[in-house]
Amino acid sequence: MRPHNFSAGPSILPQSVMQQMSEALIEFGGSGLSILELSHRGEIIESMMDEAHKLVVELLNLPENYAPIFLSGGATTQFALIPCNLLSKKAAYTNTGTWSTKAIANAKLYGEVEVVASSENEGFIRIPKTYEVPQDADYFYITSNNTIYGTQLHNNPNAGNVPLVIDMSSDIFSRPMNATDYGLIFASAQKNLGPAGTTLVIVNKDLLGKTGREMPPMFNYLPHIKKQSALNTPPVLAIYGCLLTLRWIKEQGLENIEKVNQAKANLLYNEIDENPMFVGKATKEDRSIMNATFLLENPNLDAEFMKMAQDANIIGIKGHRSVGGFRASMYNALPLESVQVLVNVMREFSLKFG
Ligand SMILES: *Cc1c(COP(=O)(O)O)cnc(C)c1O
Repeated sequence: MRPHNFSAGPSILPQSVMQQMSEALIEFGGSGLSILELSHRGEIIESMMDEAHKLVVELLNLPENYAPIFLSGGATTQFALIPCNLLSKKAAYTNTGTWSTKAIANAKLYGEVEVVASSENEGFIRIPKTYEVPQDADYFYITSNNTIYGTQLHNNPNAGNVPLVIDMSSDIFSRPMNATDYGLIFASAQKNLGPAGTTLVIVNKDLLGKTGREMPPMFNYLPHIKKQSALNTPPVLAIYGCLLTLRWIKEQGLENIEKVNQAKANLLYNEIDENPMFVGKATKEDRSIMNATFLLENPNLDAEFMKMAQDANIIGIKGHRSVGGFRASMYNALPLESVQVLVNVMREFSLKFG
């Protein structure tokens, strides 16, 4: 039996996606060849790539001036490419966790960085909300979902006329959203969108080409947009995995996906709140519907709880190595039944040790 996969990333994907990917490894598009053997300049791969881009446009209702591109190098590479492409003089950032800390360090290589808010002193258990965004900033950088700490931005900050740049690596396509609220959206694939190896960047083209900075073409968003993500050899299999996941998302519908995600999160958080053996980590109002972080009231029993979870065929609930405790990631493809199994284990645990 397949384990109940609560891993934070790489993480669970729809079974049908993995099935179709494995078929494409043997034969793809009526070519008689594996998807791995086909030229990225040939018609079969070009039309696959085209559909992937078009589905992003369709699902997010992107207007003409927004372009989606699939790049390599993970979200971490975007920490550098964003300031490289958008930072002329100064950028504003919020620091809400490990990933934004890294993004800030990268941006400092390109210009002035004003960190307008940080929850670092409190161990990143909440999202700061009271701050002013300097109106002379080229962009304001936020993280939609802090995968490691289990906090999530539930409302956009007021940034005035400053374009928002948002890291949605761990919650993109988890709910309907208004893409035009943002100047740039990015997400590494391996949490909610597909296999590791590609990163989706969606950018308002009106913001590009303004810094006067000379950039190698691979670091410059414009040539990638012009070549529809095939400036060099793209990670074709990873993008195909994204395409299949995007088709699945379209079939389910974003409203429905949000409902199921909310139901999963409610089920788990109710248990965390009602069961005296468990303590939630993130501030309630900032809790993530994707990654729930929690501790045992008595950490001496951590190994016992882990063992009971393992016996129930649950994997991936150990907290990030930097913070400890437990983390249950409930990405789109995780069924409600898996969360029910985890909740049952939590109840059993409190009967046995409470
Ligand atoms: C996982 C993650 C990253 C890093 O992604 P890579 O693809 O490993 O570079 C960045 N930001 C967030 C919010 C993440 O969850």
